[in-house]
Amino acid sequence: ARRPLIAGNWKMNAGGQDACSLALGVVEAARRSARVDVVICPPFTALAAAAHELWESKSAVMLGAQNMHPEPAGAFTGEISAPMLKDSGATWVILGHSERRQIFGETDELIARKIAAAIRAELQPIACVGETLEEREAGKTLEVVERQTRAFLDELAKRPGFGVIAYEPVWAIGTGKVARPEDAQEVHAMIRGLCASVSEELAASTRILYGGSVKGDNAEGLLGQADVDGALVGGASLDATGFGKIIDSA
Ligand code: 13P
Repeated sequence: ARRPLIAGNWKMNAGGQDACSLALGVVEAARRSARVDVVICPPFTALAAAAHELWESKSAVMLGAQNMHPEPAGAFTGEISAPMLKDSGATWVILGHSERRQIFGETDELIARKIAAAIRAELQPIACVGETLEEREAGKTLEVVERQTRAFLDELAKRPGFGVIAYEPVWAIGTGKVARPEDAQEVHAMIRGLCASVSEELAASTRILYGGSVKGDNAEGLLGQADVDGALVGGASLDATGFGKIIDSA
């Protein structure tokens, strides 16, 4: 069976001292659940401080970043590379988040390059996919998610089980509108089928997370689905008690 993974995407929140106290709160909450992998993803500027807190508290909670540039170094003003993230203590990185796709114009092709670069640098990618409300209403959900997933599947296949996929329907992000467990399951099953078309090993080992308005009171239904192996949590990850409830549901 796949080990559940609960990841907190703090987005552009909780820098500085707030990052340290939130990290410590998550450390406490995570102690109750030794059978769950927990990852926190603070903003870049708080990575090193959060890494220090995790290290000092001898916690199994892992650290992730929210984005990176595909090149390891060079003249890319304002960008951060995979080796730099490793240096700051991160072992995970969220890539292709819908906010990166929509607000910053990231393409399937760029996201695939980032995923390849992360794996080369020994950073575990959380590769995000998901349809917009318009695409869902046009009946294009499976088609869109298939296209987004196929764009990086060969990269994940180079190291089965190392990277994870997060299905985050855009209409469910930050809206309080969570997908029904059976709707999430349908998309997750399709994604696992795509993995199986590459190899059985990839299908069996790839964890597929659900994201979009996951909260303490709806996590259990989602995490109970056969192909939902964890959650990528935004808003509710900014409160250690609420995030702890989601960890407990896994
Ligand atoms: P919310 O949990 O705030 O809906 O955000 C989900 C998300 O985008 C996580 O990456």
